[in-house]
Amino acid sequence: MRNVFWKNIRNNMNMQKTDNSKKQKSDSGSIWNPWHGCHKISPGCQNCYVYRRDESIGKDASIVTKTGDFYLPLKKNRHKEYKLQPQNGSVFTCMTSDFFLEEADEWRPECWRMIRERSDLRFAIITKRIHRFMECIPDDWGEGYPNVSVYCTVENQQMADYRLPIYLELPIRHKHICHEPMLGPINIEPYLATGKIEYVLCGGESGEQARPCHYQWILDTRDQCIKYHVPFHFKQTGTFFVMNGKTYHIKRWLQQSQAAKAGIDYDGGKE
Ligand code: SF4
Repeated sequence: MRNVFWKNIRNNMNMQKTDNSKKQKSDSGSIWNPWHGCHKISPGCQNCYVYRRDESIGKDASIVTKTGDFYLPLKKNRHKEYKLQPQNGSVFTCMTSDFFLEEADEWRPECWRMIRERSDLRFAIITKRIHRFMECIPDDWGEGYPNVSVYCTVENQQMADYRLPIYLELPIRHKHICHEPMLGPINIEPYLATGKIEYVLCGGESGEQARPCHYQWILDTRDQCIKYHVPFHFKQTGTFFVMNGKTYHIKRWLQQSQAAKAGIDYDGGKE
């Protein structure tokens, strides 16, 4: 089954390549989780991996606590060098919670101070709580810290049409859309047309309870990105991936590599 899938996905995806389709550099980097735990807020949270992982070890993911890594951006090794180095890529921030969660309001200012102090690092914040953004930024935020990218997660059309109009008006220097988990076809053309979106990322849902992700949804989003010259990245297939009417079960460790094999990332048409 897996070999058939690889063959099909390669054939199908090769047909989709365009002249200016080049391999977009994948997201890579470090993870900084200053706090852990979260609350489900929208359909994309249904099978949240934080909840799944915590349940498997008998932990309650709805309890939000500061972690031992809270000061990670300032931590140094025995050679007195920062542990987090810019050459290691973006620092993905709050991957087992949401940076704009209410419970973290008293802790966040300290995080902003560290983010400002480590201006050599690029921080990536992925959120489903973009509506809280203005009450969560520091006094000196201005038009945004240059070293912060905020990814607005929109898992379906309803969330796109709620969150993206808010997002577009916010003072953020690097605006990225994250369709993960992608739960349906999503039209983001009106938002891409503003020229304010730097990057779009798509992916399916992981776990055995995952909802299926259709390859056609991914391709439709890619087409929208190509139309507006916005870089696009297909990050991972998710567990149940539908292509040409067939549903494929993709093991967790193959979900990213399968997406990469598709070779459909788009760099925005840059030379
Ligand atoms: S916002 Fe993210 S971390 Fe929080 S419950 Fe939803 S999916 Fe999980």
